Amino acid sequence: MRTTKHSVLFIACTHGNETIGVDGMRVITSTGQDRVDWIIGNELAYKAGTRSTDGRTGGDLNRSAPGRLGSLRYEERRAAEILLLARQYKYVVDLHGCPGQCGVFIIISKITRATLQLASLFPITRIVLWPQAKGAHAGATTAFVDCGISVECGDEREDATLRELTQALDGFLHQLHKSKNVLPQALQGREIYQVVGVIPSKESQQYPNLTEFGVVNVDGVEQRSLFVDLYPLTHAILLRPVTADEALALLRKGGRP
Ligand SMILES: [Zn+2]
Repeated sequence: MRTTKHSVLFIACTHGNETIGVDGMRVITSTGQDRVDWIIGNELAYKAGTRSTDGRTGGDLNRSAPGRLGSLRYEERRAAEILLLARQYKYVVDLHGCPGQCGVFIIISKITRATLQLASLFPITRIVLWPQAKGAHAGATTAFVDCGISVECGDEREDATLRELTQALDGFLHQLHKSKNVLPQALQGREIYQVVGVIPSKESQQYPNLTEFGVVNVDGVEQRSLFVDLYPLTHAILLRPVTADEALALLRKGGRP
């Protein structure tokens, strides 16, 4: 693990059991890639092999930024430590994994021209715009730095997914200092989605056989489903496909539906 200063900081294991990010960074750095700084986000949870630290002093690191250095809760302290470091970088890329069959895609929680531009440097087709809920006082590290995005990888248990991730990271690092693409052209060929709601678990019988990024008809509107039955109380996250121009138009509203 190196923490000399380059333009991008990668964070692996913000969720301690999502080790695909660590594996991906190890593959990338083993090839002599010298522009990579990376850290393990939730170090205690990573060592324990759990998503977060448990109990009274625990919490979800992905919901703990900006955090507080003097906090008694580990994740709040760690979020503050990470932000101090992350703010020294131009870009922050947070790597996640999940058991869903969703492939590798980008999640943007702070929707700006800069984050869309950063996303466009990755050879990753799908981009999900998922702004933090209005009024939320704590959230993902990427929402509290100038320019950060998350990369979600599923199914994280499959070798093919790790290959997909390392190819995406490799492609990004090659584009990083030479791409002159401008928006919205830089997003050409991408599939961009906006999170517009959820289907709660109690309605799961009305919506059988949902798939990752598959079409689902909700009240006569064709949408897409994501993270099917991955979260408690949530049958699926609902997505609306948007064009690159629509994504840019959303900037004014912070990407909220
Ligand atoms: Zn995660």
